[in-house]
Amino acid sequence: MGKQVAIIGAGMAGLSAAERLRAQGIAVTLFEKSRGFGGRMSTRRSGEFQFDHGAQYFSVRGADFKAQMALWQADVVTGEWFDGAFVGMPGMTAPARAMAASQTCITEALVSSLTRGPAGWSLHDDKGLIDAPGNGQYAAAILAVPAPQAVPLAASAGVEMPGLGKASYAPCIALMLAFPADTARPAQNWMKPEGGPISWIAQDSSKPGRPQTAQTWVVHASADWSRARLDLDPTASGEILLQHFRALTGINAEPLYTSAHRWRYALVEQALGAPFLFDAETRLGACGDWCLGPRVEAAFESGFALGKEIARALA
Ligand SMILES: Cc1cc2nc3c(=O)[nH]c(=O)nc-3n(C[C@H](O)[C@H](O)[C@H](O)COP(=O)(O)OP(=O)(O)OC[C@H]3O[C@@H](n4cnc5c(N)ncnc54)[C@H](O)[C@@H]3O)c2cc1C
Repeated sequence: MGKQVAIIGAGMAGLSAAERLRAQGIAVTLFEKSRGFGGRMSTRRSGEFQFDHGAQYFSVRGADFKAQMALWQADVVTGEWFDGAFVGMPGMTAPARAMAASQTCITEALVSSLTRGPAGWSLHDDKGLIDAPGNGQYAAAILAVPAPQAVPLAASAGVEMPGLGKASYAPCIALMLAFPADTARPAQNWMKPEGGPISWIAQDSSKPGRPQTAQTWVVHASADWSRARLDLDPTASGEILLQHFRALTGINAEPLYTSAHRWRYALVEQALGAPFLFDAETRLGACGDWCLGPRVEAAFESGFALGKEIARALA
């Protein structure tokens, strides 16, 4: 059997690393704690309603991400929302789902520790060794999770990665709202209010490929407001945000659906300033948006660079 790599986290960084390794002929297994892929490029579905309650859109700058974008466009899993602002279609998770389709993925696998034996890395959850082909024989392992969540995993592996402590995140409380499709609405599809509790409002149903059965909106609270209310009931925060949403949009209709979500690690505030961390002796690496900045493309670039580095190390 050829060399295998384990990747913890199937967000954009983990999937990008997986693609790079696969392109070099290296087998990969992704371990993802959720049922689906994409991490913070997420789509919440409830009955007939759907919302991108994490990443809202992404821009495409670098050559490698442009090449990836061309593949997504060919698969019709992305579309342009407004000038240079791209989204997944029919939801934000679609590009990640397309990337995961050609990988070996173990979902609903919350990795709690890593150990290294003579044959390679093993991954464990709270019940013990995770049942996955090749577990115990991974020549390298990648932590593709937010830096604060990578800290205990690196510690369990006995690998020092002080760079993980340099990155920090702002939280975000997100409110999802659905109204009847014919509800009177402002002309703008999105707003960036300044100074108040709300930092972003988007009419989700104005994005390409979305169902038109309802008018759906996503509201993001500012970092400071979210931080102050992070440990409080998100439903109560949602009610306050709804009042501010009404004042900003003039929409006073009763919502058909309301839900608030708390992102503890939403947007990178302080980045590492390097594309990845890699311990060459043990072949444990770490990547994610926290390396380069608060963007989908930064997560992609970080995973891409670490995938290349590990392919080189295993060559
Ligand atoms: C509210 C919000 C708004 C945003 N807006 C934008 C925007 O408009 N434009 C933009 O470009 N970016 C935006 N972003 C940022 C963007 O979503 C991220 O930068 C990017 O998706 C990060 O990808 P990642 O792979 O580094 O991390 P993640 O997407 O967080 O992926 C990590 C994955 O690891 C999994 N995981 C974690 N721990 C474990 C474990 N122990 N075992 C197994 N799996 C685990 C998680 O479930 C997740 O799937 C936004 C983010 C949020 C939350």
